[in-house]
Amino acid sequence: MKFGGTSVADAESVTRVVDILEPYYRDGNEVAVVVSAQRGVTDQLIAIAGELVNSQDSDAISPFITSLRARHRKVLDAVAPDYADETGMVLEDRLGSLENILHAVFNLREMTPRSRDYIITFGERLNAPVISAALCQRGIRSVVLDGCEAGIVTTPNHGEAMALPVSEANIRGRVLTLLSGCIPVIMGFMGCTEKGVVTTLGRSGSDYSAAVLGAGIDADEIWIWTDVDGIMTSDPRLIQDARVIPFISYLEVMELSFFGAKVMHPRSIEPALKKDIPVRVKNTFNPSHPGTAIIRGERCDSRVVKAITYIEKVASVNITGAQMIGRPGVAKAIFSSLADAEVNVMMISQGSSEANISLIIDETQLEDAMDALSPLAKQGVVREVTANKDVCAVAVVGSGMAGARGTGGRIFTALGNADINVMMISQGSSEVNISFVVSQVDGLRAVRILHDEFRLSEECNE
Ligand code: ADP
Ligand code: ASP
Ligand code: MG
Repeated sequence: MKFGGTSVADAESVTRVVDILEPYYRDGNEVAVVVSAQRGVTDQLIAIAGELVNSQDSDAISPFITSLRARHRKVLDAVAPDYADETGMVLEDRLGSLENILHAVFNLREMTPRSRDYIITFGERLNAPVISAALCQRGIRSVVLDGCEAGIVTTPNHGEAMALPVSEANIRGRVLTLLSGCIPVIMGFMGCTEKGVVTTLGRSGSDYSAAVLGAGIDADEIWIWTDVDGIMTSDPRLIQDARVIPFISYLEVMELSFFGAKVMHPRSIEPALKKDIPVRVKNTFNPSHPGTAIIRGERCDSRVVKAITYIEKVASVNITGAQMIGRPGVAKAIFSSLADAEVNVMMISQGSSEANISLIIDETQLEDAMDALSPLAKQGVVREVTANKDVCAVAVVGSGMAGARGTGGRIFTALGNADINVMMISQGSSEVNISFVVSQVDGLRAVRILHDEFRLSEECNE
């Protein structure tokens, strides 16, 4: 069971977490827990580390450490009074290390991807001992493991590391043995390289940790506890009448999370899918709600479209030039240049005249992409490379679309009727997803129109 930052933000919510865990444990289930940082702490760590590199003074460090101490102590004192001294010492030790590291960043005015990764794991390092102490307070034996101790070995790409296959045997060896008569609390979001260097798994990475750990111990189920009732037809913060989806396939969730649905980390499905382990998304604040079950196949719903997502911070890159027509190797040159610059391409579209290739990438990678592609224009491989940041991507997802006629027609007719101009369209051959790009001002309106068009706010007829 993984509890996200929203589920462990204060004493009240941590009490709720223990209330959820205790009956499962007392009923004889073996439960491993993965926790992320308290809400907002990772953002704060990223912000302060970034600021110190360019700062004139180190004045911000001390109040920051004081505020972290206060918020974690407050929860600890409330949920685990008998363990406040022992766990309090662990927190002090970690706060001391963090303070020293932040001073080092300031003094050196340097932060490598490696040191940044170490710093941003402190949210989890401070939170896990508090959750574990809260379990002990209820008379449940518990131990704390960091991601590395739990056996997650990753690639060395800091900030977006991926678990290596060797993790599985490690996890089995280290976590499985702890499960009888004890609830291990494992810090999400982190692992380490084969050499033991700490890595992070990308923002929201503790979902991925939970999936890797669940697969490693051959769990019966992987449960992601969060602050909404399950995976919904659209982001409930944007679409008020979004509805919980009771059953959804692995493939559909992968598409949804890849295209911006913040509810799950995109890579958190693959480990579960490989071992056919059902993943459940449930609400810590409403535990009796059945939530969403993510499973193989597509039970539920005669409906073709299940959900709609929206990514705001993207940019389009347009590569044009008649010299591209019929010439082998142009696409290779484009995509190798982008891959060498570590630019991740989210969407691709090419017209049949071959005189134009359009790509969608994360806005933060635009500069790298342009630097990588402009030499191709100079060498005459393509004529021109232009970019547009004023765009957003919308994805319409549902496995029922495969083979169903007319879905594309409905999507683009509804958008046309609303006078929304579609700048680019892409559909994968799996037909689980039709995604398109519109101008930023039209993005939210497009999501609302399609949510209505496919009647996603209505009960699903199972
Ligand atoms: P946690 O701290 O539990 O990891 P997150 O904030 O990472 O929580 O993810 C949960 C949030 O994801 C929800 O509060 C919701 O606003 C947002 N979200 C975005 N898209 C969806 C969706 N399709 N279904 C459910 N939640 C979504
Ligand atoms: N604490 C990390 C983050 O904020 C990981 C997570 O929440 O899953 O990104
Ligand atoms: Mg999350």
